[in-house]
Amino acid sequence: AVPLVVAVSTSLSAGNGLLIRDRAAFERARNLNAVVFDKTGTLTEGRFGVSDIALLGEGDENEELAFAAAAESQSEHPIAHGIVAEAKDRGLSIPKASDVRNITGEGIVANVGGEDIRIVSPGHLARTGKEISDPRLKQLEGQGKTVVVLVRSGAPRALFALADIVRPESKQAIAELKSLGIDSVMLTGDAHGVAEAVSEELGITEFFAEVLPDQKSDKIEELQRRGLAVAMVGDGVNDAPALVVADLGVAIGAGTDVAVESADIVLVRSDPRDVAAILGLSRATYRKMV
Ligand code: ADP
Ligand code: MG
Repeated sequence: AVPLVVAVSTSLSAGNGLLIRDRAAFERARNLNAVVFDKTGTLTEGRFGVSDIALLGEGDENEELAFAAAAESQSEHPIAHGIVAEAKDRGLSIPKASDVRNITGEGIVANVGGEDIRIVSPGHLARTGKEISDPRLKQLEGQGKTVVVLVRSGAPRALFALADIVRPESKQAIAELKSLGIDSVMLTGDAHGVAEAVSEELGITEFFAEVLPDQKSDKIEELQRRGLAVAMVGDGVNDAPALVVADLGVAIGAGTDVAVESADIVLVRSDPRDVAAILGLSRATYRKMV
C-alpha cells in the first residue's frame, strides 16, 4: 500500500504542477547535491531571433540570409526558426534547398542552387581546422548571443547572432536551490562565451559548454564520480540520455515527448523554480516517515 504521507504529497505535487512519474526518484530528491540545467529551452525560452549579421568579406547581408534560410527552412531547430523568420520579416525570397542533412548539435548542410551551404557552430568549424578569428565572434558571444556561421562552398561568409530570452524565473530558481544548499550547473552545446555570459547573469558558478548531444550524459556521470547526487533538468531529445543517467531526471513540460518519457518528474508549468519545490516536497514528505 502507498503510505499516507506519500499519497498526500503526490496529490499536493499535482496541485503544484509537478507530475511524478517515478516515486523512488522523488524520494531520492531529498538527498541531491547538485542540479544540472540544460541551457536552451530550459533556463531560456529557446525562442531565437536574429539580432546581428556580420559579413566576413564582400557580400550582401540579404543574399547571405536568404541562402541560410533556404537550408534552415527544413529544420525544426529553434535557431533555424529564428533565421527563417528573419528572412521572411525582410520579405526575402527564399531559394529551394535539397539534400538537407542535420549535423546533430553542430549545424545543417544543404544544396542550394548547386552550392554547398552549411550553417554550423564556430566550434564545429574549429574542430575541422577552420577557426573564425573575426573579433566580432567573441564580442557577440560575450553578450550571451548564440552565433552560427554561414559557409558557402567551403568559404565562411557571414556570422548570424541570435538572441534567446532567459526565462524570468531562472535566476530565482538558482537562488532558491542555493538556499537549500544545492549547487546549480549549466550544460550546453553552445559556445563557451555564451555559457559564461548566461551563467553570470543567472548566478551559476559551474558550466559545461560545447557539449555534443551524445556527451551530455558523460557530464552527469563525471559529477556523480565526484560523489554528488545529481538531478538533470532538460527539454530536448538530446537531453534524454542525461535524464536517464541522473539520480533524478526532470523534464520541462513544454519539452519534447522523448524528454518527458525519459524523466522521473515533469514540470507541468515549465517553471524552473519548481525544481526547488520538488526538493522541498521530497524532504518534507520523507522526513515525516522516519
Ligand atoms: P543546446 O545544447 O544549447 O540545447 P544544441 O545541442 O541543439 O543546443 O545545438 C548546439 C549548437 O549546434 C547550437 O548552438 C548551434 O551552434 C549548432 N546547431 C545545431 N543545429 C543547428 C541548426 N539547425 N542551424 C545552425 N546551427 C545549429
Ligand atoms: Mg534544450
